[in-house]
Amino acid sequence: MEKQIYLDHASTTPMRPEVLDAMLPFMKEQYGNPSGVYKLARKARAAVDESRDQVAEILGAESREIIFTAGGSEADNLAVKGAAFANKRRGNHIIVSAIEHPAVLDTAKQLENYGFSVTYLPVNDSGLVSLDALAKAITSKTILVSIMHANNEIGTIQPIGEIGILLREKSIPFHTDAVQTVGHIPVNVDELGVDLLSLSAHKFYGPRGVGALYVRRGTRIEPLINGGGQERQRRAGTENVAGIVGLAAALRMSVEEMDSTSKRLLLLRERLIDGIMQSIPNVRLNGHRTHRLPENVNLCFEFIEGESLLLNLDMQGVAASSGSACTSGSLEPSHVLLALGLPHEIAHGSLRLTLGKGTTQEDVDKTIEVLPGIVHRLRQMSPLYDEKAVSPIGQ
Ligand SMILES: *Cc1c(COP(=O)(O)O)cnc(C)c1O
Repeated sequence: MEKQIYLDHASTTPMRPEVLDAMLPFMKEQYGNPSGVYKLARKARAAVDESRDQVAEILGAESREIIFTAGGSEADNLAVKGAAFANKRRGNHIIVSAIEHPAVLDTAKQLENYGFSVTYLPVNDSGLVSLDALAKAITSKTILVSIMHANNEIGTIQPIGEIGILLREKSIPFHTDAVQTVGHIPVNVDELGVDLLSLSAHKFYGPRGVGALYVRRGTRIEPLINGGGQERQRRAGTENVAGIVGLAAALRMSVEEMDSTSKRLLLLRERLIDGIMQSIPNVRLNGHRTHRLPENVNLCFEFIEGESLLLNLDMQGVAASSGSACTSGSLEPSHVLLALGLPHEIAHGSLRLTLGKGTTQEDVDKTIEVLPGIVHRLRQMSPLYDEKAVSPIGQ
């Protein structure tokens, strides 16, 4: 069988075999409910406690500041709704960036139905929020700001530390969705100056369906799931012990390898960008040229429909995405690309290639080799191509 080239690591990553090994005992013989008083339960409790200590230490946090959740989406919902509900006596204004993941963006939209008012902060053409614009958007009613650490579609990394300093001065709770950065680039809650931070295990070679929310001591949030009082009354439900153990194991390993992996992927990213831009005309690189995740490439091909590009790449054994899993299959182009100021017809022709620790130089070279032929064929079929080809836009 032809080798599959997996270039969709921003949507999910393959679990490390060592992570599965760490999880298996808790899915088999170590099945105790951590709330019990007998030995079997105490072992499960100890595993959860130890995992929490490890996650906290890596983030520069205290163990009691970590709440385990069922993934990144739940952590984002808990941060945004939880802080909004807990602070509603102080005000009803929330600020989020226009390019947040839907787990934050749609949560903010939902809060508008419950009396909150939301400012959607614009970004510049490389996807960066402006500190000035943020400072101007703040009012006496602002009770939460949520700006993601790095964007899942275009890879742009925001100046979270600088934003944190601004918000700390004004005592406004600050959430960052760090699902794309934890395990990939250094993340320390004090250096970032955040009060709330979301992460998800399956984005760093851990299991799907488990994540965490960091909540700085003294930051108030209302629980979204009530019940048995687990996670210090902030997230009820019998703990996903195996998942939590897997999350911590995956995070430890990713952090150990972070320097070498990110250096290697940065070189492959540049090779991929250069290889494509040099062999195909009318291509635009989306996102910031340098303030971007080492593994992210996002391009727009003029006169092309992103979906057909993906299907053709798949036929050649390359698994890629047009941006967010949540917008593919819909006719609306990505809200992130539109926020960069791209016109609809260009935003439709987007391709996201996200590398991972298993990506090799051969994978990158094979992609560079097959892409020009696919793009050429699709452009030949486009009714817009001939007329515009006379005066190409872009390079
Ligand atoms: C994947 C992702 C999420 C959602 O995490 P899940 O664990 O899949 O729920 C949230 N935010 C960002 C930036 C992501 O990339």
